[in-house]
Amino acid sequence: MTLAPESPTSSVPLDELAASLTGRLHQPGTDDYRHLATPWNLAEETHAMAVVEAKTPEDVVATVRFGAAHGVEVGVRATGHGIINHLGNTILVHTGHFDEVTIHPDGWARIGAGVQWERVIDAAAEHGLAPLAGSSPGVGVVGYLTGGGIGPVARTYGVASDRVRAFEVVTGDGELRRVTALEHPDIFWALRGGKGALGIVTAVETELVHLRTLYGGAVYFAAEDIPNVVRTWGQWCPSLLEQATTSIAIQLLPEMPDVPPPLAGKLTVAVRFAWVGDPADGEREFAPMLAAGTPILGEIGEMPYTQLGMIHADPIDPLPFRENNALLREFSPETAEALLRVTGPDSGFLQIMAEVRQLGGAIARASDHSSAFVHRDAPYNVLLIGVPVGPEGEAVVANGDAIIDALSPWATGGGLPNFSPGMVAEEVARSYDDLTLRRLADLIEEYDPQHVIRAGRAIREALDLKS
Ligand SMILES: Cc1cc2nc3c(=O)[nH]c(=O)nc-3n(C[C@H](O)[C@H](O)[C@H](O)COP(=O)(O)OP(=O)(O)OC[C@H]3O[C@@H](n4cnc5c(N)ncnc54)[C@H](O)[C@@H]3O)c2cc1C
Repeated sequence: MTLAPESPTSSVPLDELAASLTGRLHQPGTDDYRHLATPWNLAEETHAMAVVEAKTPEDVVATVRFGAAHGVEVGVRATGHGIINHLGNTILVHTGHFDEVTIHPDGWARIGAGVQWERVIDAAAEHGLAPLAGSSPGVGVVGYLTGGGIGPVARTYGVASDRVRAFEVVTGDGELRRVTALEHPDIFWALRGGKGALGIVTAVETELVHLRTLYGGAVYFAAEDIPNVVRTWGQWCPSLLEQATTSIAIQLLPEMPDVPPPLAGKLTVAVRFAWVGDPADGEREFAPMLAAGTPILGEIGEMPYTQLGMIHADPIDPLPFRENNALLREFSPETAEALLRVTGPDSGFLQIMAEVRQLGGAIARASDHSSAFVHRDAPYNVLLIGVPVGPEGEAVVANGDAIIDALSPWATGGGLPNFSPGMVAEEVARSYDDLTLRRLADLIEEYDPQHVIRAGRAIREALDLKS
């Protein structure tokens, strides 16, 4: 039996499930449900049938087996930063109680599935170690690692999921398994890039790197400098060594108390930079960008890795937003001009951010163990964030689409799984090549034959779309 995506839910005996759990089950209408089920992206509502606040891996096993027995899908939530849409016939497992962070001073960590990067960064720093976290320390470790993970030092250290040693995961068949390169290598392959398509991870073990400080930060320029900053950045990137990771972000941040006055309500551009190595060399490398305009804000210098989040300065509090993304095959002078036409001064830019990250370097190298993370060869990623609320809501959406259209001559057609909004089929299809999508779908049949895991549905629908 496979589950119908939208089977009726009123007959589902949730009380039975609740009675079998160490943790608690919350149904709509309660504060606990609202607190746990509300996504970080406030523009989305997911309407899960119930939320299981799991306390033990056995709670996850019980929920997945219950799902199989009653024709209900099971999804997972840690922070809600990267939710799956349409959870009507879904019980959401909340992993917040899986809060273990154990740092092994010889260079690795064991981390519970409910942990956010910030705790790992701080705990590892006490040993001179660092995890390969993303731009925002508030993002969940497991959600990030299952999607690959490309952070502020990624060109130096590569894709974060390549450093994973082991997962503990409840697969769709209701079995709790430890998976490594040697034990269940097929699941290990799928969980590094394939998001949670095969199951719900309860803990992960990952290597750390020896890194206490880096030379880095962000420098902001006013609207009149945007053309020169964008052109200079595009010419500068190809010369950078792997020790450098950089991005630019054209921003139109709202006037809010947390937004510094030089940036609030104004079109600006941020140049972000992280250099692993001698700070004097980093300063020399960054000099052309500092000279590209007159900085209005920002700080760049030697910084502890614990301040990693300052490089991108991502928002901390939840907000309503819509993402667009595209991988680019190059960022040529023509790409820079196209970007300027749709994001520069007088362009009618309506997003709060249009970011271009340089990829390449160690990201492009194959890992020791193959994985479901593809698109390693794309040299740039574009990410747009717009706030589609209020009278301009529709215009914000149209503007995001128009920016992506303008960049389409340079787009590879692919996308990164971690920037795949809502895990809808069209987006998921862009995250994988045909072979990877097919292999993920085959593994779902093997480890989740009743199609209980909600993220697996996204993979199957993406495959249908492509065939
Ligand atoms: C502000 C911000 C900054 C970001 N920066 C980066 C960045 O620098 N680099 C990058 O690569 N990505 C980045 N991302 C994307 C982020 O990595 C993904 O959205 C990630 O999925 C978030 O995971 P989460 O646990 O925080 O969110 P959740 O919404 O709780 O989970 C998102 C998804 O991750 C999977 N997942 C989560 N927990 C589990 C589990 N226990 N078992 C199996 N699957 C699970 C599921 O598919 C789930 O739907 C950023 C996102 C935001 C909002």
